Amino acid sequence: MFEPLPQYPDHVALEEEILAWWDAEGVFDRLRERNRGGPRFSFMDGPITANNPMAAHHCWGRTLKDVFQRYKALRGFDQRYQNGFDCQGLWVEVGVERDLGLNSKREIEEYGLAEFAERCKQRVAEYAEVITQQSRRLGMWMDWDNDYYTHSDTNIEYIWRFLKECHERGWLYKGHRSVEWCPRCGTSLSQHELINSYAELTHPSLYVRFPLKGRKGESLVVWTTTPWTLPANVAAAVKPDAEYGVTEGGDWWAVERRPDATFVRRVRGDELVGLEYEGPFDSLPAQQGVVHPVIPWDDVALTEGTGIVHIAPGCGAEDFELSRVHDLPVLMPINEAGRFYEPYGEFEGRSTEDVEGPIVVELERRNLLFEAGSIIHRYPICWRCATPLVFRIADDWMIRADEIRQPMLDANATVEWTPDFYSKRMDDWLRNMGDWNISRRRYFGLPLPFYPCASCGQLTVVGSLEELRERATGGLEQLKELHRPWIDEVPIRCDCGAELRRVPEVGDAWLDAGIVPFSTLGWQNPEWKPRGYATGAAAGVTNADLPDHGYWEKWYPADWVSEMREQIRLWFYSQSFMSVTLTGRSPYRSVLTYEKLLDEHGREMHRSWGNAIDAAEALQNIGADVIRFMFCEHVPSQNLKFGYGPAEEIKRRLLTFWNSVKFFVDYANVAGFRPGPEAPGELQPLDVWLLERTEQLVAELTEAYERYWTPAVMRSFDVFVDDLSNWYIRRSRRRFWNGDEVALWTLWHALVRSFQTVSPVMPFLAEFLWRRLRAEDAPESVFLAPWPETRDRDESLLEEVAEVRRVVELGRQARGDAGIKLRQPLRRLFVYGAVHVPRHVEELKDELRVKDVEFHERPRVRFNYKPNLPVLGPRLGSALREVQRALAERNFESLPDGRLRAAGHDLDPVDDLIIERADEPGWVHDGTLSVGIDSELDDELRLEGRVLDLIHQLNTMRKDAGLALTDRIRVTLPQSYADLLRHVDWIKEEVLAIEVATDSVAEPEIAKVE
Ligand SMILES: [Zn+2]
Ligand SMILES: [Zn+2]
Repeated sequence: MFEPLPQYPDHVALEEEILAWWDAEGVFDRLRERNRGGPRFSFMDGPITANNPMAAHHCWGRTLKDVFQRYKALRGFDQRYQNGFDCQGLWVEVGVERDLGLNSKREIEEYGLAEFAERCKQRVAEYAEVITQQSRRLGMWMDWDNDYYTHSDTNIEYIWRFLKECHERGWLYKGHRSVEWCPRCGTSLSQHELINSYAELTHPSLYVRFPLKGRKGESLVVWTTTPWTLPANVAAAVKPDAEYGVTEGGDWWAVERRPDATFVRRVRGDELVGLEYEGPFDSLPAQQGVVHPVIPWDDVALTEGTGIVHIAPGCGAEDFELSRVHDLPVLMPINEAGRFYEPYGEFEGRSTEDVEGPIVVELERRNLLFEAGSIIHRYPICWRCATPLVFRIADDWMIRADEIRQPMLDANATVEWTPDFYSKRMDDWLRNMGDWNISRRRYFGLPLPFYPCASCGQLTVVGSLEELRERATGGLEQLKELHRPWIDEVPIRCDCGAELRRVPEVGDAWLDAGIVPFSTLGWQNPEWKPRGYATGAAAGVTNADLPDHGYWEKWYPADWVSEMREQIRLWFYSQSFMSVTLTGRSPYRSVLTYEKLLDEHGREMHRSWGNAIDAAEALQNIGADVIRFMFCEHVPSQNLKFGYGPAEEIKRRLLTFWNSVKFFVDYANVAGFRPGPEAPGELQPLDVWLLERTEQLVAELTEAYERYWTPAVMRSFDVFVDDLSNWYIRRSRRRFWNGDEVALWTLWHALVRSFQTVSPVMPFLAEFLWRRLRAEDAPESVFLAPWPETRDRDESLLEEVAEVRRVVELGRQARGDAGIKLRQPLRRLFVYGAVHVPRHVEELKDELRVKDVEFHERPRVRFNYKPNLPVLGPRLGSALREVQRALAERNFESLPDGRLRAAGHDLDPVDDLIIERADEPGWVHDGTLSVGIDSELDDELRLEGRVLDLIHQLNTMRKDAGLALTDRIRVTLPQSYADLLRHVDWIKEEVLAIEVATDSVAEPEIAKVE
C-alpha cells in the first residue's frame, strides 16, 4: 500500500513535517558524509546583513544558492555549505541607534562606545538566529553551526593584511577632497554607496545678485538650490566663449538663458573674467579678507540657471577642484553633523535647512534677491538613513584604483556570468571605478590599523594582531577584541621611537565582506585552528575553524557565487579588488545574478507603503516550495513581481502534478501494485514513449542545472507534467481502471524520476512524494538517491508524439474557435503538413472525438474584399455603400477578365479593392501544421454528444457521492433521456453501472450497489 494522498496538498504542513523528519534522521549530515572526498564544488556565500529578519527578496538569492548546492550534492559533490553574516558597519550601528533612541554621534559617545559595541554584537547575534531559522524554513541546507561572522578578529586581521599590502604598494593615501556626506550618520560615503540612492526632494530655487565692484548698479545673477552654501561663496564662474549681457536694471546673465530680455550691452564671458564682486555674506568672520573674483570655467552649463555659477569650494566637488586651479580659499561652513561652525555668525550651530529662511530674509533685505521659488529635483540621500546628503571637505583614507584596474578587468574576463551580459556591466563598473574610499567616521566597524607619526612623518600600517602585540606600548591587557574602544587604548611604537595612536576611523563594510575568500579558507595560515575563526566578537556565536593554507588551495577560487545585480559595485567588486590584489586571480569562476523584487503590481516594496512582505509572513502563508518555484521560474535579468496572487497561480498549476501522483497512488492501491526494478510485462507503445519522455526530462533538467538556468528547469518540468497528465494518463485511463501493472509501473517510474530531478527546486514536495512512492530498497530520502544517469533517447519517437500532441492541441483550438465543446463528436478532422501523425489516427479520433481523419488536404483560404475608399468614393458617390454591403455579404460575381461585379459595378481587384486573406472558419495553424474540423452536426452526432454529457454528469455524481473507484452503481434517468438508451452499454461501461433505466425522476440519479 502507498499512503493515500489528500485531495489537495497542504504545503506548509507537509514542509514542517519534512523539516522535522530531516532533522530527526540527520539527512543533511548523511548526505555530506556520503559526498565527503568526492569531487569539489566550491560555493562562497555572500554575507547577509545580520541586522533585521529576512525580507521576501532575501529568499530569492537564498533559494538560488540552495537549488544549486542541492543539485551538486545530488551529483555527489563535496561542498562547504558555509553561511556568512555581515556584522559590522553602519547598518548595524543605525539599527542599534534606533533601538536606543540615539540620534547623533555625540549621543553615542555619551552612551559609551564599549556598551554600544556590546549592543551591536547582541543585535547581530539576535538577528543571525532569526535569519538562520527563516533560512532553514525556506529549505536552505547550510552548515549552520559554522557560519562566518565578519566582526570576528580573524576577519579583521585578514583585512589588515590586505591594507598593509596596499600600503606597501603605495596605493594607500589620505585624500583631502570634497565628498558626499551624511550629516546624520556623520560620515562620508563611498562611490559605490551613492548609486541608486536618490529621492525627489523640494528645495529652494534662488536667483541671487552679486554686485560687481567698480560697476555701480551692475550685478552678476547666479542661481542656487542650496542657499546654505552662499555664506561660503568665494567666486563666480562664467563660460569664456559664451555671450553675456546686462539688462537696463543692471543684471548680468548669459544671453542664451534669457532670450526674451533686452540687453543694453553684450560681451563674451572672458571679458568678465577678473572682475571682482561683493560676496553675499562678506560681513561674516569667516569671509574676512576673502576677495571674490570672476573666474573662467568651460563646463558652465547653459541649460539651466543663469550661465553664471556660484562657487563654494567647501561645499561641492567641482567647486573644490576649481579652487585648486584658481588658488581660491576653501571655506568649509559645516561640521560633521552638518551644523554651521562658529565663524558663521548668526548661523552658528544651525543645520543647512535651518539657515535657508534667514538667508532668504537677509538677501531680500539687501535687495540681492532677484527671484525666489522652489524646485523639485532628484537629490542624493543616505542609503541607510535617507537623510539628504551634503558636500564637505574631508580627509578620507583612500586606496588608489589605477594600478589594479586592468588586472581586475583581466580577471573578470575569466569569469562566466549568467546572464552573460552582466559581464559587461562589471567591466563598465571597473573601467569607471574611482579610488576606494575606505574610511568611515564611526564606531562599530573594522578598525583601520593606521598609525601616523607626527615626528617622522611615517605611516605605520599594522598587518596582524601579532604585529600589534609586538609594537604595543601598553593597553594589551584590556584588548578583549579588535573593536573600538578597546583597540584605541593600544598605542604602538613608531620605528623612530615615538608613541603612536591609531586614527579614529573605521573601515567600509565592503572590506569586511570582500576578504572572506581569504579569512574563511585559511589563506597562508600555517596550521589548522579548530574554532579558529570564532575570535573576538565572533567568539561564542560560531564554531567555525580557521583552516590551513592547503585547504584554501583546494577551495579557492569559488566555482560559483550568486547575488543580486547591485553587488556588481559592492561584493563582486570588493571581493575581486582584494583577491586580485592578493593573488592576481578572480575569486570566483562563475556568477549568477538577478534583478530586483517588486510587489505583484510592479511597485517597489516598502514597509512604509504597506506592500512589503517579509520572509516569515511569506513562508507561513505561501510555503517554501511555492516561493522557490516562483523564483526559479523567473528569468533573473528581469524584476520579479512577488505576491500572493502569483503564488496562488503557482499552487493551482502544481495541482496538476499533485493530481497525477494522487491518481497513481489511488489506482496502484486498488491494484495492489508494488514497484520493482523492471516493468512487470511487455511495454505498450505509449509506455515506451513515456520512458523516453522521462529520459528527456532528466537530460533537459541536467543541462539546465549545469548552466545555472532555473527558468529552463521549470519550463521543462511544466511541459513534462503536461505530457504526463494530459497525454500518458489521459490516454491510459482504461488500463489503470483495469489495474494494468505495466501502465502503473511506467507511470510510477516517470513520477519518481520527476521527484528526483525537481527536488533541488521543491525539496519538500519532492521528498514528501518520494517517501510515499519510493521502492522499498531505495534510499529513504530523495537526496540520498544518486542523480539519474542520462542515456541516449529515441528522438524520433519523441518528435512523433510531440507532433501528435500539437495536432490535438490545434484540433481543440479549432473546436473552440467554432464554439463546439469537446464532448460533442464530429464527423471529420483535416490535418495538413504533419509527418508522423498518420500512424496515430486512432488516438486523434479518440482525443478529438471525430469519426474520420483526412490528411494532406490543404487548408482552404478565402479572401475578403473591401472597397478602396480614396478611389471608389469619388467614382461611385452614393452608390459606394451598396457596393460595400455587397462585398461584405460576398454577394458578387467573378468576371472572366479577373474583375469582380458587385451591385452592378465592375471593380478592378488591384486598383479598386483591398483584399484581405482570411482563414476558412474551422482551421487553425501553427508553423507548418494546419488542422481543420468539419463542424456540421447531424442527429446521430448530437445524440452521442448528449450521451457523453450524461457520462460526465454521472461520473461527477460518483465523485461527489464519495464512491470508491471500484463501486458499482444503478442509474435512473428521466423519461426525456430514453433516446440515450440506444447507447446503454457504452454508458454502463463508462460509469461502472450494472443497470441504467428510466423512471419518473426529474434529474438523473445514482445508487451504489451494496
Ligand atoms: Zn545617514
Ligand atoms: Zn615616527
